[in-house]
Amino acid sequence: MSEGWQTTWRPAPGWTTRFAPAPTGWLHLGHAASAIWVWGLARSRGGRVLLRLEDHDRIRSRPEHERALLEDLAWLGFAPDAPPERQSERGGLYQAALERLADAGRVYVCSCSRRQILAAAPGGDREELRYPGTCRERSIAASAAPMRRIRLEAGAVAFDDLRLGPQVQHPAAQCGDLLARDRDGHWTYQFAVTVDDLEQGVDVVIRGEDLLASTGRQIALASLLGRATPPRYLHHPLLRHPDGAKLSKSAGDTGIAELRAAGWSPPRVLGAAAFAGGLLQSPRDLASEELAKLFPAGD
Ligand code: GLU
Repeated sequence: MSEGWQTTWRPAPGWTTRFAPAPTGWLHLGHAASAIWVWGLARSRGGRVLLRLEDHDRIRSRPEHERALLEDLAWLGFAPDAPPERQSERGGLYQAALERLADAGRVYVCSCSRRQILAAAPGGDREELRYPGTCRERSIAASAAPMRRIRLEAGAVAFDDLRLGPQVQHPAAQCGDLLARDRDGHWTYQFAVTVDDLEQGVDVVIRGEDLLASTGRQIALASLLGRATPPRYLHHPLLRHPDGAKLSKSAGDTGIAELRAAGWSPPRVLGAAAFAGGLLQSPRDLASEELAKLFPAGD
């Protein structure tokens, strides 16, 4: 996606971040608030922003969502500092990373269905399934089926969230061995995002706190892939409706496109998103040039 792209941007070292929406729905105010965190922090620290279209979910991703997403971001004034990348065009990198892990003896073929995992995992009706390791001793050669898991060691992963402070997670106990490629041959979110953050030189990951539980496993996987220093992480608060429910991509009343159609200006949308995300004390118009001022330099 790089045709005609030119940039003379010189990023500050250590401040390459990314905005990584999935084109599985329409952009809503929650995305705008997340983008404010990403661009605002990067601009305030002299960093740069990569835009990654996370279309690893080939069934739910739609070209019309991608088009609308790019248009809405541009309309709001969020310009990335490099050509956007699509995960669906990065399969070669994921394959190469899997092969590196396979050479290190970390990969095995798994053929367990969700139902089998549920049956084998005690307390298996929780939101997150822990893979109990049923196929752990199988080799890769044992099957031509596409599903692959990465063997994780038991143990703690500690990191310092730039907003939430020190965190300790136990990925092997939380989720068990990581699924890298599913039964349909699709790369998983956890695997693709970790390879991408490594290959793209992302050193600060800024994203919603709904993804906090994924961070330990992504750090563990990055280390297996040979990453010497993990990225730094900042998990920002999610926007909530007054009733406390998380905004969803299908919440038409908060879709950026609907707000545009209703005559809202970009500063009005940015101001509403920043206010709902707790970044402004009271609602007001917010110009995209003002975003950096929301994040006074500190670290
Ligand atoms: N693609 C994910 C989402 O749209 C974000 C992943 C990430 O930032 O790591 O929620």
